[in-house]
Amino acid sequence: MSIARVALPVAAFETFDYWIPEGLAAGPGAVVRVNLAGRHRIGVVTAVDGTSAHAERLLPIDEVIEGVRLPGEIIALAEFVSRYYQCAAGMAFDLALPPIARSGAVSRRPASRARATRIDREADAALHARDASDASDAPDVAPAGSRAPELNAAQQDAADAVAASFGSFAAFVLFGVTGSGKTEVYLQAAREAVARGGQVLILVPEINLTPQFEERVRATLPQVHAVTLHSGLPAGTRRANWEAAASGAAGVVLGTRLAVFTALPHLALVVVDEEHDDSFKQQEGVRYHARDLALWRARRRGVPIVLGSATPSIDTWRRARAREARLLTLGSRAAAGTVAPAIAFAPVRGAVVAGGLTPQLVDALAGALARREQALVFVNRRGYATSLKCSACAWEASCPRCTARLVVHRGPDRLRCHHCAHAERLPHRCPACGNVDILAAGFGTQRLEEAIRTAFPTARVARVDRDTTRGRDAFASVRRRVDAHEVDILVGTQMLAKGHDFGRLTLVGVLGADNALYSADFRATERLTALLVQVAGRAGRAGPPGRVIVQTDFPDHPVYRALAAADYAQFADDVLAEREAAMLPPATRIALLSGEAHERADVDRFLAQAFECGRGLAGTVARSDDRIELFGPVPATLARRAGFERGQVLVQSHRRAVLQAFLPRWREAIERSSPRRVRWVIDVDPVTF
Ligand SMILES: [Zn+2]
Ligand SMILES: [Zn+2]
Repeated sequence: MSIARVALPVAAFETFDYWIPEGLAAGPGAVVRVNLAGRHRIGVVTAVDGTSAHAERLLPIDEVIEGVRLPGEIIALAEFVSRYYQCAAGMAFDLALPPIARSGAVSRRPASRARATRIDREADAALHARDASDASDAPDVAPAGSRAPELNAAQQDAADAVAASFGSFAAFVLFGVTGSGKTEVYLQAAREAVARGGQVLILVPEINLTPQFEERVRATLPQVHAVTLHSGLPAGTRRANWEAAASGAAGVVLGTRLAVFTALPHLALVVVDEEHDDSFKQQEGVRYHARDLALWRARRRGVPIVLGSATPSIDTWRRARAREARLLTLGSRAAAGTVAPAIAFAPVRGAVVAGGLTPQLVDALAGALARREQALVFVNRRGYATSLKCSACAWEASCPRCTARLVVHRGPDRLRCHHCAHAERLPHRCPACGNVDILAAGFGTQRLEEAIRTAFPTARVARVDRDTTRGRDAFASVRRRVDAHEVDILVGTQMLAKGHDFGRLTLVGVLGADNALYSADFRATERLTALLVQVAGRAGRAGPPGRVIVQTDFPDHPVYRALAAADYAQFADDVLAEREAAMLPPATRIALLSGEAHERADVDRFLAQAFECGRGLAGTVARSDDRIELFGPVPATLARRAGFERGQVLVQSHRRAVLQAFLPRWREAIERSSPRRVRWVIDVDPVTF
C-alpha cells in the first residue's frame, strides 16, 4: 500500500499520512481532498512512501483535484518557506495553490482558517483593486500599436547585460532615477527571454499598478500571452491565469507578491519592480518576503533576476556593494527634454500657514493652475485631523482598545482608530472636563482637500486615499480623470507615490513629512527617503520641468539632503555604513517573536519564559565566529492593539545559518510550553516592529 505525505493548511508543522486508493494518481505535487478530523481539507502530496508506522489506522485520499499539480520546484519552494519562515508546511503549500483548488471542490464547508487569514490581509488591497482583466477591455487604454520601445544607450546596455546572462543565475540591481524608463529595460529583456521560448515573472508591489503595467506589456509585446495574478481577480480568472502560467502557455506573468509561488515550467527571467517596497513582505499568516523568495527561485532555477528601483532597499544595496548583484544604473530621465525636478524647502514654523499650506506652496499651486498644469499635494495621513484635544485639560481622544490616538474623520463625522475597527461619534465637549473648546490638530488628506478647495474654489480637486478608493474601479477611475485632465490638483497619500505616471503633473507639494523623521524604527529614514524620492519623481515626467516643494522645518536632515542632492547612492552608502557600525540589518540577521494576550501579565510571563528558553538554546548553536543574541522582552511599538496586550523578543545573529539553526529548536520549545491564552508568531526578517 502506498502512503502519501500530505501538507494541509492547518497550524501544525508536520505533514499527514493518507493511503492512496488503487488507481488514484496521487504522486508528489498532486492536489488532493482528504478528511482531517471530520472536515474536508485540500492539501498537497509532498512525498509518497511504501510504509507508515500506523498504516492500519490511516484514512484514504478522497479525491485528486484535476488540472492542478505542483511541480518539484514549487514543492521545494514551499518546503523552503516552511523551514525558513518557521510556518506549517501546509500553510506554505496553500500559498502556491490557485483559488479553485482551495475552495471550489469543497464549497459547502466554511473557509479554512488559513485562507481567512490571508484573505483578510489582502482584502484591504482588493477593496480598491481594479480588476486587471477589465482594464484590457476599457476603450481608453487600448494598446497603441506594436513597436519595439526605443531605448537610450543606458537602457540598452542594461537590457543587454541581463540578456547576456540568460541560462544562468545572475542578480542585477537596476538602479534608475524616477522617470528613467526601467520598465522598457524589463520589457526588452522579457522580449528576448520569450523569443527563446522562456517565461518571465514580473512582480509589482500593488494591485493598482497592474493595469498600467499590463497595458505596457500588451503594447510592447503584443504577440506574447501575458496574464496577471493577484488577489483582486475573480477566482475563475485567477485559476485560468494560473493554469496558463503552469502549462507554459503564458509568456509573461505579472502579479503581486503571491505570484512568486506560480508554477512556471519555462521560467527564464524574474523581475521585481519597486523592489524596495514593503508590501512584498506579507505581514500576516506566512510572513514571507516575495523579493527574497524571487531571488531564491532565480538562483535555484539558474535564471537571471532584475531588482528594479529608484531607491533600492538597503538590503539590496548591500548585495550590490558586496558584488553579489551587479549594479546597472540609469542616471537620467528617459523622455527627451525632461530633467529631474527642482527641489525647494518651505519652512512651516513662523510662516503664515493657511490651512496647512505655506505661502510658497500656495503661490506654486496658483502658478500651475494658471498654466493649466496639474499638481499633486501629498500628506501621508488619511482622515481629517490626526488627533482631537481639549484646550483646557490633558484629554486627548484615544482608542479604548489600542494604545493609539483616534483620528478625526468628516462626512460622516467620526473618530476612528486606524489600528482596529473602533469608531465613535465626534464629541462636542471634552468628556473629561466639559470644556466646549476642543481642537482638531494635525492635517490629514480630508482637511488638506478642504484647505485647497478654499484657497482655489474653481480648481478641480481629487482626493486619493484608502477611504476614497474602496470601490473596485475607484482608483482606475481617478487615473482616467487625471489622464483626461479633468483634475487639476490631486491630494493623497502614498498610494499616489508608487510608480504612477501622470503626464501633465509638474508640481508636487509635500506636507507633514517631518512627523516621520524621528521614529524609533531603524528603517524609518530609509522608508521616508524612498517615499519622498518616489513622490517627487511624479513631477515633470513628460513635458515641462517639474518642481517639488517640501514643507519642513528641518531641511538639513539627511533625508532631505539626499532628496535635494538627488544622490540616493550616497545616502544608501551612508545608511549602510551606519547599519554596519550599529550591527543592524542587513549587517545582521534578525527574527522577532511577537506575543499577544488579553492580560499583560500573560504575555509578559510568556515572553520572559521564551527569552530564558532561548538563552539556554543559544549556546547549543553558537559557533566560534558567531552566536545568538536575544533582546527583550519589550512591549511592541503599539503596546495594545484591538484589545490585545503585545510584546516581543528580538533574536539576532551575524550569520543566517546560525539563526536558522536556532529558530526551529526555539519554536518547538515555545510550542511545547506556550499557554493557550497567548497568541504568538515568529517573524523572520521582520520589516515592522
Ligand atoms: Zn478637557
Ligand atoms: Zn484601536
